[in-house]
Amino acid sequence: MSNVLNNFLTENLDALKNQGLYNEIDPVEGPNGAKINVRGSELINLSSNNYLGLATNPALKQIAKDAVDKYGVGAGAVRTINGTLDLHVRLEQKLAEFKGTEAAISYQSGFNCNMAAISAVMDKNDAILSDQLNHASIIDGCRLSKAKIIPFNHSDMEDLRAKAKQATESGQYNKVMVITDGVFSMDGDIAKLPEIVEIAKEFDLITYVDDAHGSGVTGKGKGTVKHFGLEKEIDFQIGTLSKAIGVVGGYVAGKKNLIDWLKVRSRPFLFSTALPPGDVAAITAAVQMIIDSTELHDKLWENGDYLKAGLSKLGFDIGASETPITPCIIGDEKLTQTFSKRLFEEGVYAKSIVFPTVPKGTGRVRNMPTADHTKEMLDEAIAIYEKVGKELGVIN
Ligand code: PMP
Repeated sequence: MSNVLNNFLTENLDALKNQGLYNEIDPVEGPNGAKINVRGSELINLSSNNYLGLATNPALKQIAKDAVDKYGVGAGAVRTINGTLDLHVRLEQKLAEFKGTEAAISYQSGFNCNMAAISAVMDKNDAILSDQLNHASIIDGCRLSKAKIIPFNHSDMEDLRAKAKQATESGQYNKVMVITDGVFSMDGDIAKLPEIVEIAKEFDLITYVDDAHGSGVTGKGKGTVKHFGLEKEIDFQIGTLSKAIGVVGGYVAGKKNLIDWLKVRSRPFLFSTALPPGDVAAITAAVQMIIDSTELHDKLWENGDYLKAGLSKLGFDIGASETPITPCIIGDEKLTQTFSKRLFEEGVYAKSIVFPTVPKGTGRVRNMPTADHTKEMLDEAIAIYEKVGKELGVIN
């Protein structure tokens, strides 16, 4: 290894370790379900994005296996050579139906999708108004486009309006886009899409909503845009296929001309191998399940409300989440990490989230209940929270 690289790595890894910011990764020794096995222990899992339990759904597992038997394990090429299987076409039709749009395009991940879609449309002569708490993949997608990035204060519509006015009236930019998460994953709050659409109409902004944490969860499962009835108003409906939908991948749903453009200009679609057939078959069936029934969605919300009520009654600060995401805000970073470690020792897997992912002094243990949790599991988790909370002086 080059000395320069070795010095760089040693210095920076040591610095992270000294500041307690080096994240050790625990491999999960089995399915990422309502319970998980980690380091030889079985724990109640409150850290997965498997909101509806579909990642471990037996019917979907069988559908994936059947598709592997028929098509093999890989798509074999990028989409524009001969990696577009009939399965991909069916998936994209299903995603358009799911999102109430003319068309859709799929990508290999949600992260990839933001890198692909923003830079296919925006360039150095454009500007992007971006919510300050937007996901890392949106930030990176914006950077890749080389457009001027204008952050606005989180869900602050006055700030957005002022910056939209300034950007459009300056005459400096050819196009101006506004980008927001649909559901913000650290606090569980929902973007103010009706106000965003109003501002977008006033200033002719392109609208872009990444609903990674909303699809399957809000809008009776159909997402945050549907929740507000704005399917006709949002230009880009982005999502991931890896959270509530349970598999892997990302997508854009929108007008046919937008999707046609992304098929010829978005680089991961052109230059990276297509999603594998087993995954595509399972995703299509998962989306169909969400379209057909709200049973899992209803169970998810029931469990979210139950966990929130239990933790709140004990005196924990659970923030102002509007979704099943349940942060338990501890504050101090070190105490938050100790809290999560003690939960682990008592049988609950709930990760601590601290600066720089969230602002300093707002360290939290983030809980993600799913449709697969039973009331008994949630009662046990709440009892463990009570024990650890009292022991560490977080509650009385
Ligand atoms: N966008 C948002 C808002 C997300 O929360 C995430 C996942 N953390 C992603 C994109 C990335 O999705 P994926 O995991 O499918 O790459």
